[in-house]
This record gives sequence, structure tokens and C-alpha cells, in this order.
Amino acid sequence: MLIVMHHHANQAQIDLVLAAVEAMGLKAEPIPGSLRTAIGVLGNQGYVDDSTIRTLPGVRETIHVSKPYKLVSRDFHPAATIVEVAGVRFGDGERPVMIAGPCSIETESQMLAAAEQVKTAGAQMLRGGAFKPRTGPHSFQGLGIEGLKYLQQAGQVSGLPVVTEVMRIEQLEVVCRHADMLQVGARNMQNFDLLKEVGRSGHPVLLKRGMSATLEEFLAAAEYIVAEGNNRVVLCERGIRTFEKATRNTLDLSVVPLICEMSHLPIIVDPSHATGKRALVPVMSKAALVAGAHGLMVEVHPDPAKALCDGAQSLDGGSFAGLMTELNGLIDYLKTG
Ligand code: PEP
Ligand code: MN
Repeated sequence: MLIVMHHHANQAQIDLVLAAVEAMGLKAEPIPGSLRTAIGVLGNQGYVDDSTIRTLPGVRETIHVSKPYKLVSRDFHPAATIVEVAGVRFGDGERPVMIAGPCSIETESQMLAAAEQVKTAGAQMLRGGAFKPRTGPHSFQGLGIEGLKYLQQAGQVSGLPVVTEVMRIEQLEVVCRHADMLQVGARNMQNFDLLKEVGRSGHPVLLKRGMSATLEEFLAAAEYIVAEGNNRVVLCERGIRTFEKATRNTLDLSVVPLICEMSHLPIIVDPSHATGKRALVPVMSKAALVAGAHGLMVEVHPDPAKALCDGAQSLDGGSFAGLMTELNGLIDYLKTG
């Protein structure tokens, strides 16, 4: 439930409402606004009887929120959240963040070369998977902890903060030690125990949309992380499963402006997994920025033909540099236009 105070309500009246909510055994979260204060009510399992609250001085109205997410919604938190990852800032008013790097960490030299290429091209963050959620058990499963070391080293040499996927709770500690940002992959978007632990870690999180998740389920997954006191969450649209087989997934770009309306969290787009085809990555990258994405995550490999994973959707260093030139022009145009 959301309690909206009159614009003339004073602090004593607000405090009275906060006390009344606490007395009901619920948690009250004041949301100061430029015009009026609202108070978010959390912790209820079902309908909240608002008959007492509505009669308190200074209360304008109460709004019952039946959505499975509150903390991530604009209703509860109108101001945009800026998520900072080792100096890189995601969110409204910030220049879109470019994350790039290989699908999988393969060797030390591959990671160093990829980092050098994406850094030179102007990316602000480096990606690479050490624990890979592969569809089949016979595919390359990732280098594990050895890979995390190569990623961290490549991040340090290039000066780029790094993001990598954590698949299980047991991996969380070691991934936190090696990476600036945790990625929760599409297949784990509804692994609620993992989401809770990732929330408790306090580490910045890149939460990818499940391939069959509705927008509401996506935001509810983010709610699990924020409910643990960690609001450093960046959402990532990476395509959803539809009947269409021409692309690996179907990039659902309309969620970008929708999420900007519904949630205060930043949203970025992964055109690589969304399309599965390197030829489509540049145009869908541009479309994502036009739709309002706060950044992109693009797979880049020094030699895509030899990649152990997702080579067909990976750009080489030169193509990525060319794309970055185009994207920078587009970003400048969108800023002034
Ligand atoms: C990835 O980004 O490495 C990945 C596996 O993507 P997704 O979880 O979106 O499939
Ligand atoms: Mn991949």
C-alpha cells in the first residue's frame, strides 16, 4: 500500500502515520517528493486494512498496490536510481554504458587481447563468463575460478571494471572477490535463493531477463534483490523466446521505455544473445539506444571463428571499434536532438 500525504502535511503528521503503520506490525518507508511525501507500506502478506490510516491528519489517500514488486517501482521510488560500478554510472542522465567482451573466458591471452580491444574502442566495462550456463553438458562449461583470475587481471591491466555470471550461491564469495559486478543470467532469473544471496552481498548486480519471463516477473525478480537492501541493480533485456526461429531470441525492445516508466532501476540491452547473429548486433544496438537503454552489453572476441562459445554472435575487435564510433555519434545526436 502507498499512503499519499497532502502537500501541506507537516513532519509531525508524517511521523504519526509512520507510527501507525509500525503499530500494525508493518514497515513504513517515507518517499519524499518535490510536491508531497508518500509513505510506502511493506511487509504485508495480503490486503492492508487502511481504515485507521485514512482518518489520520495530513493523509490525502491510500493506494493499494497489488503488484508483486514495490521497492523497484516508480510508485514507491519516483527518482531514478543511478547504479555505480567502480566509477561507471548507469541510469537516467548518464551516458549509456558500453559493456563488451567475450562470451567465455578461454585463456589469459584471449582475455587480455579482448580487454585491450574493447578498451581502445571506448567500452567502459569488460565482460566474460567463467561459469557458463550451457544448454548441453558436452559444451564448454567455462574455466571456473581460473577464468575469474584472467578476467580480474584483464580488468586491472585495461582499467575496466568487470562483470561475470554467478550461477550458484556457493560461487558467490569467489565471484565477489574477482568481479566488480555480478551477473545473474536469464536461466537463473527466478532462482529466488540465489537472488536473495546476491542481494545480501551488496555487490552491484546485472539481472538478465529470463527467456520466458513477463515484465512483471522480471521486476519481481529484481524486487528479491532490492528487498535484501541492495538497490544496485541494473536490468538487462536479452531477448525472449517466441515462435520465431530466424533469430536466437526475439528482442523485446518495447520493455525498455516501459521499464523506464514502471521502475527507477536502469535497463540495458544485450543485442548479442537477443539476435544470435553478429550482422544484426549493430542495428539492434542503435535501436536499443533510441528506445532509451542506459547501456549495452555486446559480445566481442579477438577471433570469433575460434570462440568456444557464441562465436556467431560475437563481433571482432575491428567491427566493435567501428560500431562504437557509430554509437558515439548516435548518443551525441540523441542528447542534443
Ligand atoms: C551471458 O551473457 O553470458 C549469458 C549466458 O546470457 P543469458 O543469461 O542472457 O543467456
Ligand atoms: Mn554468450
